[in-house]
Amino acid sequence: MSYIKLNKQNLFYNLEVCAKQAGDKNKLAIVLKDNAYGHGLLQIATLANEFGIKKAVVQTYKEAITIEHLFDAILILADTKIDTLSHSFHIAINDLQSLEELCENTNIHIKIDTGMHRNGISPEMLEVAIYRALELKLNICGIFTHHKSADELTSDFFYQNTIFQGLKEEVKNICEKLNMPKIAFHSCNSAALFRTKNFTEDFARIGIASYGYLDGVDALNFPSLRPVLSLYGNKLSSRTLKKAQRAGYGGTYSASEDMTVSTYDIGYGDGFRRLGGTEFKTSCGKRILGRVSMDSIIVEGNDEEICIFDNVSELSKIHETITYEMLTSLNQNLKRVID
Ligand SMILES: *Cc1c(COP(=O)(O)O)cnc(C)c1O
Repeated sequence: MSYIKLNKQNLFYNLEVCAKQAGDKNKLAIVLKDNAYGHGLLQIATLANEFGIKKAVVQTYKEAITIEHLFDAILILADTKIDTLSHSFHIAINDLQSLEELCENTNIHIKIDTGMHRNGISPEMLEVAIYRALELKLNICGIFTHHKSADELTSDFFYQNTIFQGLKEEVKNICEKLNMPKIAFHSCNSAALFRTKNFTEDFARIGIASYGYLDGVDALNFPSLRPVLSLYGNKLSSRTLKKAQRAGYGGTYSASEDMTVSTYDIGYGDGFRRLGGTEFKTSCGKRILGRVSMDSIIVEGNDEEICIFDNVSELSKIHETITYEMLTSLNQNLKRVID
């Protein structure tokens, strides 16, 4: 059976690098949405807990329930339909309407749209949102925003930062006036954290960096991290491919000499995206020959078990996408093994 191997040492290394940048591991919230970027929600949550991370970020209430026992605080980004009030759950408020959907005493973090124009309340409406939340007896625990291009060398990052810094002052003034408890401020994802020299916010929401990738132009000088996930396949069958014989759908690969080839039990049906070309050499040094089928690939050699990849950077370039998509594409039902 094909399976995913998770490298605990690498995960801990990445978290250590992030903790250093943030100043302390208490200043990290690990982002576990989409099955922990394809790595396995419960597996990564358990390891993060062992490392000493106290906060997590997920997309849905269902994800939060699964990992509730492992964190002190869990921010739910996109779900207001919650059945149980757990003191550790914090709900992100993406528009004014969602305030109305929550019951009294729910912990909330108000998201501000500082320029991405995807989710969040506009800066002009922030005060209205705060007063409405207080009327509804919601606990305002945080104010946050998200960068649209922290990994690009444009001025957007600084522009959004400036707006957010201004809002912090405004919110602090309101809090003082109304004698409200302290509110947490957070704006950084992985790339933004590594663009911030003196990190002073309450925490950073780190996703991709935990998993060992920090995509961004070279000029940003991001540290090199260590990929956590590798994919393994087991042999289904072997055969000799004679010189000039063609293998797989469409026969796109043609053998340049007699060779031994084997099939392995992974394909695009498992989320290993389809390669349509003649051959591809993976980060583990294996040659995938011809097209990827739904449930198998053809690889040169006849080892019983092979590492298919231990780094998705090259694959994401080939597929003209980003490492995030390569990782989250991997099927939830592939077995995850911690190494
Ligand atoms: C996904 C997400 C993150 C994590 O981003 P990375 O680039 O993976 O670090 C942080 N904050 C929000 C709101 C997100 O949706």
